[in-house]
Amino acid sequence: MARLQLEGLSKRYNEFYAARDIHLDVAEGEMLVLLGPSGCGKTTTLRMIAGFVEPSEGVIRIGGEDVTWHPPWKRSTGLVFQNYALFPHLTVARNLAFGLEMRRVEKSEIDRRVHDALAMVRLDHLADRLPRQLSGGQQQRVALARALVVRPDVLLLDEPLSNLDAKLREEVRIEIRALQQRLGITTVMVTHDQEEALSMADRLVVMKEGEVRQIGSQQELYERPVDRFVASFVGRSSFLRGRLADGILRTEGGLEVRCSDGPNGPAAVAIRPERVTVAREAPSAENVFPGEVEHVSYLGGSIDVRVRLSPKDVVVAQMPNVEGGWLPQAGDRVHAGWSASAKAFADTETE
Ligand code: ATP
Repeated sequence: MARLQLEGLSKRYNEFYAARDIHLDVAEGEMLVLLGPSGCGKTTTLRMIAGFVEPSEGVIRIGGEDVTWHPPWKRSTGLVFQNYALFPHLTVARNLAFGLEMRRVEKSEIDRRVHDALAMVRLDHLADRLPRQLSGGQQQRVALARALVVRPDVLLLDEPLSNLDAKLREEVRIEIRALQQRLGITTVMVTHDQEEALSMADRLVVMKEGEVRQIGSQQELYERPVDRFVASFVGRSSFLRGRLADGILRTEGGLEVRCSDGPNGPAAVAIRPERVTVAREAPSAENVFPGEVEHVSYLGGSIDVRVRLSPKDVVVAQMPNVEGGWLPQAGDRVHAGWSASAKAFADTETE
């Protein structure tokens, strides 16, 4: 268990920065999740920490020690890959023992550690199986045990759940998080799945095009996104676009929307669906507009209602599914209302 620090870490391929000037400080026992779209540099960053990719600039410290130029086997990291990367011809137990044999750990100690690590992921009864005789979830747990058996100071998880089906993913997600917390192991996980990120992280890092856009808790990223990209990537938003002047956005469709933040000029206001009220009569709110229901999605626990407010403006409301409550239909004339706390951002991006 150790603190992990990245100081100005970059990876350049010719003129292209796969990762640029990354500063991260991961506390002992913390689970930090790198979140971002494909190609944003998450894996590159993780592989630099593991020692598989050489940084172009910057410093990596584990437990205060500069390990930037240590080879992978000389830094105390355990890496779990998306595709498990188990040795197919070795049994589960031998897969785990391999790294310890490389490190010349004594045989009896190897047996004990392998047994302990398999017990940790509840697979001690499958020690003699080959990987192909295991389910995907079991293989992923073996991969996790293999990373933990060398007792790394830092655990690195590269999209560890992406090959599992939805139900199994949730199970393994809870298991990994519980184990990580029980062992108190400093962990960095990479994912592009925001639900996975939100449910597992102590803190999240949102990346785009090789750069860190924002670091913070789930609540910070959701309530106070620094830019339009983060607002669109963490949670859902409807964006109304127009020109902002003194807290009022005039949309291209002619609405005047009260909002918070945002510099004067071209701007987009992010409206969270669960904060929009849709009703037949105008609700009391700082922003209320008449509109027409365009589409209704019945999701079980909630109902998404897409309301057209003008030829250019659409907002989505997430209504709670109240027993016996009113269910809007496409074509209904309604009102949509929300507060002035919806955040506006400079409209410089195309997402
Ligand atoms: P994904 O979720 O798709 O794995 P990612 O966020 O992990 O994406 P990286 O794999 O870190 O992204 O890649 C970041 C960028 O660096 C991509 O544009 C990728 O094409 C580029 N890149 C990665 N490795 C190399 C390489 N060896 N040579 C050139 N470019 C590379």
